[in-house]
Amino acid sequence: MQESFTVVGGGPVGTLLAILLARHGYKVGLYEGRPDSRRTSIYQGKSINIALSDRGWASLEKIGVGAEVRKQAIPMTHRAVHGSDGSLTAIPYGGDGDAIWSVSRGGINEHLLDIADREDSIRTCFEHRLVDLDFETATATFAVAGADQRIVQSDYLFGADGAHSKVRRLAHRLPRFSYSQTYMPQCYIELNIPANSDGTHQLEKNALHIWPRKDFMLIALPNPDGSFTCTLFMNFAGEPSFESLTERSDVEKFFAQHFADALDYLERPVDVFLEKTAAPLFLVQVFPWSFNCKVGLIGDAAHAIVPFYGQGMNCGFEDCAELDRLITKYDHDWQQIFPAYENIRKPNGDAIAELSKRNFVEMSDLSGDSNFQLRKKIEARFSQLHPELWTPLYSMVTFSPDIPYAEALRIGDLQNEVMDRIMQLPNIEKDWDTPDVMQELHALATKKLGDQP
Ligand SMILES: Cc1cc2nc3c(=O)[nH]c(=O)nc-3n(C[C@H](O)[C@H](O)[C@H](O)COP(=O)(O)OP(=O)(O)OC[C@H]3O[C@@H](n4cnc5c(N)ncnc54)[C@H](O)[C@@H]3O)c2cc1C
Repeated sequence: MQESFTVVGGGPVGTLLAILLARHGYKVGLYEGRPDSRRTSIYQGKSINIALSDRGWASLEKIGVGAEVRKQAIPMTHRAVHGSDGSLTAIPYGGDGDAIWSVSRGGINEHLLDIADREDSIRTCFEHRLVDLDFETATATFAVAGADQRIVQSDYLFGADGAHSKVRRLAHRLPRFSYSQTYMPQCYIELNIPANSDGTHQLEKNALHIWPRKDFMLIALPNPDGSFTCTLFMNFAGEPSFESLTERSDVEKFFAQHFADALDYLERPVDVFLEKTAAPLFLVQVFPWSFNCKVGLIGDAAHAIVPFYGQGMNCGFEDCAELDRLITKYDHDWQQIFPAYENIRKPNGDAIAELSKRNFVEMSDLSGDSNFQLRKKIEARFSQLHPELWTPLYSMVTFSPDIPYAEALRIGDLQNEVMDRIMQLPNIEKDWDTPDVMQELHALATKKLGDQP
């Protein structure tokens, strides 16, 4: 008999998972708490975009939609760093042809929902909000908009219900469930840079723009309609912070002082700053990710991370790709698939959580620092000369889906030790590209890293 799955959460990860399960021959019920955004336009007027990179693309390729989604995506080949003095510096993300891609979060979700609609064995139900779950039998209770509660029985269930996951919160009542939630000091608001009147972009299109200001930063990602979605990350409390900046005159001064060049483009930044409530950023780490070989967690429900590496959705898509591989490997034996899935993915979830936390410093502080830029230049040059010995950490995380996040973190730490020593060489600013420096780097890297990438 055809086995069945309930997937709770019709976000990008839940929908991709539903499609993969259907293509493995399962009957899938996909339950989403909110109305169908394609009919109610909940994203209307709000273009939230995210950066998708090679891990995400590799996972989408599994269902053959990579090329289609890419048509709506904009490649960003470099960071365009806007200095406080009005300077503009381009820092490439990787080698030639490497780019991260700006995609609409709502757009990709709707695209996947359209594909799910075409699968005979997926039944999608909107306005079904999970309220209870029996972890022994995978029996789920949903509150249904305008109707009675509905009880749904299936063989297995996945919670893909995001950073505030109800499935995960219900798991708190189970024995030996480990949980930690950590708030970051930073919060964020979204701002907008509109298109030129002819629909072109006001800033360079194929770049992720960053205004790094050490304790806070503004970033901007391009949209296909010519606009940019900007995010201001800043501390919740302290000086300056969302808490301290409440007077219009102070907010005006803040933007004029720190983002003078961006003020030429931003749409009503001061009004938006004063109107909006800053959203918090937090990390959630849990274990296990599966219960009784019946119920699993996936995507943000299993690993809510901070957005500074642009990897949250990429990581969730990669969870799906791993499950896809394990279903084949263990020939649909979920007694083996669930434990293998959580044992493989948990260390990688923890690693990208750690890398993402660290990357705030890199983005907000170091990318505006000439030492950091020199360090990146040396690494890029050395990696060109010795690709077998050195792949920069950013490239391992972003452009190397074959290197697990945990491995990237481990190798990156070793590389840091090597680069700390190189940066201490006398006259490094002047001599960085000389054969002597490259030879010294080669000797240190060979000793530390051997034949690792
Ligand atoms: C500011 C910001 C920037 C980001 N930038 C990037 C980036 O550049 N690159 C990247 O890869 N990631 C980025 N992310 C992370 C990315 O948005 C998430 O990792 C991704 O959306 C997770 O997908 P998901 O499907 O697991 O969860 P969600 O997208 O949260 O979807 C969960 C779904 O479950 C539904 N749901 C919730 N509770 C219930 C319930 N009780 N019953 C039924 N349904 C329910 C919700 O309505 C929702 O549709 C960013 C996040 C933020 C906040």
